[in-house]
Amino acid sequence: MDKFSLKMRASQQEQHISGAERILNEAELIDATSSLMSRALTHEKGEADFIQIKMEKKESEEILRFSALPVKTMETKSVIEGYETMKQLLSQLSIQNPDKILGFLPKTYGMRGAMLLHVDSLERFEENQLRGVRATYMDSTDFTASKKQSKNHFQEALILATKVAHCPHILGELCISDDPNYITGYVASRDLGYVRITTVKEMGSGNGGRIFLFRGGQEEAKETLEFLEKQWVLVENLPDSPISVEKTDETWNKWDRYEKEMELWEQSGLKRVEKVVIPSKEKGSSWVTYGEKQLIMMASNNYLGLTQHPNLIKAGQKALEEYGTGSGGSRLTTGTSDIHDDLEKNLAMWKGTESAMVFTSGFVANFSILACLLQVEDVVFSDSLNHASLIDGCRFSSANVVVYKHNDMEDLKAKIQKYQGKSGMIVTDAVFSMDGDIANIPELQEIARKNHLLFYVDEAHSTGVLGKTGKGICEHFNLKEKPDLLMGTLSKALGSEGGFLCGNSCIINYLKHKARGYMFSTALAPATVATAKSAIELLEKDVSLVVKLQENVAYFNELLKNKGINAVSPTPIFPILIGEEEKSVKIAEKLQESGYFVSPIRYPTVEKGKARLRVVLMAQHEKTDLETFVDLLGDCMGLK
Ligand SMILES: *Cc1c(COP(=O)(O)O)cnc(C)c1O
Repeated sequence: MDKFSLKMRASQQEQHISGAERILNEAELIDATSSLMSRALTHEKGEADFIQIKMEKKESEEILRFSALPVKTMETKSVIEGYETMKQLLSQLSIQNPDKILGFLPKTYGMRGAMLLHVDSLERFEENQLRGVRATYMDSTDFTASKKQSKNHFQEALILATKVAHCPHILGELCISDDPNYITGYVASRDLGYVRITTVKEMGSGNGGRIFLFRGGQEEAKETLEFLEKQWVLVENLPDSPISVEKTDETWNKWDRYEKEMELWEQSGLKRVEKVVIPSKEKGSSWVTYGEKQLIMMASNNYLGLTQHPNLIKAGQKALEEYGTGSGGSRLTTGTSDIHDDLEKNLAMWKGTESAMVFTSGFVANFSILACLLQVEDVVFSDSLNHASLIDGCRFSSANVVVYKHNDMEDLKAKIQKYQGKSGMIVTDAVFSMDGDIANIPELQEIARKNHLLFYVDEAHSTGVLGKTGKGICEHFNLKEKPDLLMGTLSKALGSEGGFLCGNSCIINYLKHKARGYMFSTALAPATVATAKSAIELLEKDVSLVVKLQENVAYFNELLKNKGINAVSPTPIFPILIGEEEKSVKIAEKLQESGYFVSPIRYPTVEKGKARLRVVLMAQHEKTDLETFVDLLGDCMGLK
């Protein structure tokens, strides 16, 4: 039976974004084409504006079939150990100068194809040295178009390695993953098999590439290139994942894999430790004790300093006395007390919606609401900088998740266009937690309305912060109508703990029956509920803290501008871009020595190389605090 090769290449403004190939039977072509098309149109690197699909036919007899190379895993703890392992493997391939060959790897970074390197003369044989050689016309017989899951990274690599290992005049192959989320590499040959090396580079680095190890002259090179680029190959017996060697009881250390991964993070400078930060009550709510020192807190979400407010503390104490320490049950069983009900009523009233419900945290709220509301027929459009809890909620739901460019209405509209007629939701942060910018809520609301999508807004950083009286994003934009689902947290400006959702009675009622994070988690402790309730009652009467916070935001913008620091923000969150991870840590340390607590934000919270300081203002910061801080910051950044 004839076989068909199907190749897809997609680009956006002439930049490659995705590519894939399959070798299939005729009957599978239509399904496979449509699945490749949809892959090109919904790729995370962007949406294709040019897609090329190429289909070719070949007689089955002309196709070579090989069994997948046997897979072996070598565990390495560091990049250095990884390199040493590669070196040893190269020696096993009777290669004389493994060091020199490994030295060629950096030259492959950024090449789309591989380097074809003569192992003795170190001459390169690719026709195009910028692009490299591409091995192509290969697939596995173990996949059919109807089989839903697609090849994973490992399987794609193994198919390629198997073809290359059977290529004439090739001794073997050397590869380091160029995916920033992978730190693995491999050495492969017909004799060695496919030897995975668990660590060959740093987490977060996009530097990777491959070398085909060649021996021969011009004629042989021609033959090799012909095989790599033209010969059709099907790989059989492809495993799903690299199964490690069987472990005996003595060698099985159950914590090994976790320990190893953490060692790597440490080596890459990404180790985290919780800092012990204690409020310095006597100095005021923007002060903390950290180690030996008292510092001005410039990194907390406690925007209004309410965690130390006497009203909240008193309310908490009173509830503790009256109700005890815990709620003892979930909301639908025994955990609801009158103050839980009161808090929900107050929230709905304060936010101006029909109804409200409270969850044990903002994270739980987002996760359980989205997972519950979004169903398999839905599409959810999610901003690329949305909070992790929104991302996880979308992922956990069975809906199709489409990520649009950050706050980019044109991109969103174009993406919605593709799914016209589908039901679903637009989901966004009101204020983005790392960048401090505000989503274009009025336009998002309009787009949602026009396309019959629900509109979900996370007000974690706008509640108590934006709007004349701190009511949040609706007040800020003077919206006539509320977003359909207005979520927020009690844990930031409101100084307490817990997540909430405001909306109409229909949706709140539905969620009370169906949201698993609501139904199957113990209700918030009464004292926590009482403090949150007290915070809302305070803001209903007295908005002076909100006003003070907003004045600080305006003043801080002015100070930064005068200092020539390129950072503006309409909210108390100011991202100060530094770049290098290490530098951001150093500057934060320096600021700390001078009396200010600031957090460096690094990969993986933000992209590698885009490390920043996240400076956060509070209502309690004095003007002089801000002035001194900006001067210091300017010095640290090397500005006059
Ligand atoms: C902090 C945060 C949450 C989670 O709220 P918690 O109450 O801390 O669990 C959700 N969304 C955004 C945007 C946040 O910043």
